[in-house]
Amino acid sequence: MMKEDAQIDGELTTVMYHYVRQIKNSNYPNLKGLEFDGFKRQLDFLSSNYEVISADQLIGYVTGEVNDFPKNACLLTFDDGYKDHIEYVLPELLKRKMNACFFPPVQPIEENTLLDVNSIHFILASATDPTQLFNDLLKELRLRGFSETFLNQSIAKLAKPNRYDPAEVIFFKRMLQKELPFELRSEITTILFDKYVGKSEEEFSKELYMTTNEIQNLIQSGMYVGSHTYHHFWLDSVDEVIQEQEIDRSLKFLQKVGTQTEKWIMCYPYGAYNNHTIEILHRKNCAIGFTTKVGKSSLDPKLTFEMNRFDTNDFPQ
Ligand SMILES: [Zn+2]
Repeated sequence: MMKEDAQIDGELTTVMYHYVRQIKNSNYPNLKGLEFDGFKRQLDFLSSNYEVISADQLIGYVTGEVNDFPKNACLLTFDDGYKDHIEYVLPELLKRKMNACFFPPVQPIEENTLLDVNSIHFILASATDPTQLFNDLLKELRLRGFSETFLNQSIAKLAKPNRYDPAEVIFFKRMLQKELPFELRSEITTILFDKYVGKSEEEFSKELYMTTNEIQNLIQSGMYVGSHTYHHFWLDSVDEVIQEQEIDRSLKFLQKVGTQTEKWIMCYPYGAYNNHTIEILHRKNCAIGFTTKVGKSSLDPKLTFEMNRFDTNDFPQ
């Protein structure tokens, strides 16, 4: 077999995690996340069915520095910089001598802000009735002059259930995560966060995300930390200038915490990117880009900026 063929050989199973914590007996028993016990069982399942690899092994292979790659390779990825990752995830990984990648967005960590997406998760976890929430959102939109025609069109377009959520919840998430103008989304999210969760965003941010020191602690423990941008925007909805700023500011943070900014890994917020993003990553010596498309990934060097990930829910827990 020729070397070029050998290099495009192989595939990778990547697993994506978000919240990993004790959920049932917590203040937010309805939070959509992975129970700590399920996480431990899943690590045991993965380690007996796959070879869990490190980011360095993957980067080495796709950049052609290393020729060996395990057949059943599996990579673990943890998005969004939650305290869960230092509290629950890290000790279990260390116990099993496993490696993993972590992708914290910078702004919540450095400025104690709360990402709208997380605000929405905790509003949903605190609301007992999705219809009430749906109506609250419509009320806020009517107050701001949105017409019934616009509301009905938006409902028809967005209120479609998926494999995790009913139609009303999907509508709520889509409107507040992407559809409405950015300032308006933040304004309405803040009002509803106050109504349903009842804590200040700053206080809540400190509880939810790791500190810079905790991220350094991950790195010192042998874990990989990569870019998840600064503000956690949908990169396909902002122009290339903003995209580059988002990436540059996150690389600055990676330098600060002491991780490499040559042959690094990008994790697109919401899995969203476009051709501009890929062009920027090429220029910045990025090695790999992770999407949220579900499936195994080819290790073809032409496709390393569009690598798939499974969700933790795709495996036994
Ligand atoms: Zn994210």
